[in-house]
Amino acid sequence: MFDKVRVRFAPSPTGGLHLGGVRTALYNYLFARHHGGDFILRIEDTDQGRSVPGAEEYLLECLGWCGIRPDEGPGIGGDYGPYRQSERKSLYRQYADQLVRSGRAYYAFDTPGELDAMREDQVRKGVISPQYSRENRELMRNSFSLPEREVRALLADGVPHVIRVAMPANEEVSITDLIRGEIRFETGLVDDKVLLKADGMPTYHLAVVVDDYLMKISHVMRGEEWIPSAPVHVLLWKWLGWEHRMPAWAHLPLILKPEGTGKLSKRDGDQLGFPVNAMNWTDPDTLSFSRGFRETGFLPEAFVNLLALLGWNDGTEKEIFTLEELVEHFSLERVHRAGARFDYNKAKWFNHEWVKRTSPENLLPLVSRIYEERKMPSPDPGLLTGVIALTRERCHLLEDFYDQGKFFFIPPDHWDFEAIASRWTAEKKSFFEGFAGRLQEIPDWGAPQAEAIFRESCAGAGIKPGELQLPLRIMLVGGKFGPPVFQIAGLLGREETVRRIRTAISSFP
Ligand code: GLU
Repeated sequence: MFDKVRVRFAPSPTGGLHLGGVRTALYNYLFARHHGGDFILRIEDTDQGRSVPGAEEYLLECLGWCGIRPDEGPGIGGDYGPYRQSERKSLYRQYADQLVRSGRAYYAFDTPGELDAMREDQVRKGVISPQYSRENRELMRNSFSLPEREVRALLADGVPHVIRVAMPANEEVSITDLIRGEIRFETGLVDDKVLLKADGMPTYHLAVVVDDYLMKISHVMRGEEWIPSAPVHVLLWKWLGWEHRMPAWAHLPLILKPEGTGKLSKRDGDQLGFPVNAMNWTDPDTLSFSRGFRETGFLPEAFVNLLALLGWNDGTEKEIFTLEELVEHFSLERVHRAGARFDYNKAKWFNHEWVKRTSPENLLPLVSRIYEERKMPSPDPGLLTGVIALTRERCHLLEDFYDQGKFFFIPPDHWDFEAIASRWTAEKKSFFEGFAGRLQEIPDWGAPQAEAIFRESCAGAGIKPGELQLPLRIMLVGGKFGPPVFQIAGLLGREETVRRIRTAISSFP
């Protein structure tokens, strides 16, 4: 039916891009790449009132950060453009008119006041969610209820109107969802949604069907929240005469709150202290800010990996996947039906795994930025690379590199002498004086050499090395933390190691 897999990510540029949105983009992308197909980015900005300046650029930057590169889209090009629905406005009306002509849609002239009155009336009658539907369309002002002559006159006078879909009374519509199997809908329960607005702009429902058709989309993968709209879309495909070209459907499971109850929201992130958006986002109108995974110190490889596993696995215990491996293994059959619980600790675990797998050279620019943000400008790149290599195992987020490594750049100005006070002796003090001197004499500098001299000196002084290692650590870093002590010394260099030992003993009793 389709000679090529063509899928699309179709966000509305209304704000920050949250986990669920990026995952939808990712699954579409993986599916396209796996099948050698095309991945299209389409901006669904028909609701201009909700479009937010900067949101589209932000979306593109998020995808770029994740390594998800659309084959077609705004600013990218392609044979099916334009890829912004607002720029396709003139295209949709003919299809809405076609539906009116075949009796599947109708003109509705109701004013906002009349619509409000209808809703209030329904509420008074105990209707929980009032809607414009076949139940009450006869009572409203539309081309079903008004005489044809009047309709023609209203149209000729240019009276503002919308076009609504006429949902049938008792039809059953079903889709075969590639993740959930058969889903059935009762058309009588669905309202007569607006297809074309008074200003000629289509609504999402019309635009999504027309564009999926014109752009030759083979599979629609989108969030589960779109399931209730599916019957409208299926009927439009049918009524427009395109049923043979209808894409396959796959509704992706929700991403759930850490407790597993309900959809994960930005508020959960704010309350529990984790990001929900891919990148920092500040809404230009409300100035409400939400923190991003990128700025929280996640590597894009880790972010993509953890997202892929929120609702999918390859059927084995394997958890760490590169983007290429995901492309190779991804299949819709293995996408779970149940919602995926978001666990922030697990997310950090993924990042830790990726930090360990990323070379210090590749981490350097990212870690340098963290140091700069903490007002430690341009730390020596050679030393910082060494610090990264030494502390990588201990870091979950990129900012951990600062806490784990800052003491290499800032000598301690106080020492946790308490930790060693009870066992501190004059003999030990003189050991370190001698040891510092000997360090200055060794021909080559490095962790193994420093350790060898240390052991030799301990043997010479008749003190167990275990007695002296903690004091040495405290002299070098100020406290009981950090990587193996000789590796610290190796990286600090001879001058700095000797200076730190001497500074510390001069202030020790
Ligand atoms: N514009 C819709 C959204 O914002 C797209 C839904 C779909 O993929 O059909 O999620």
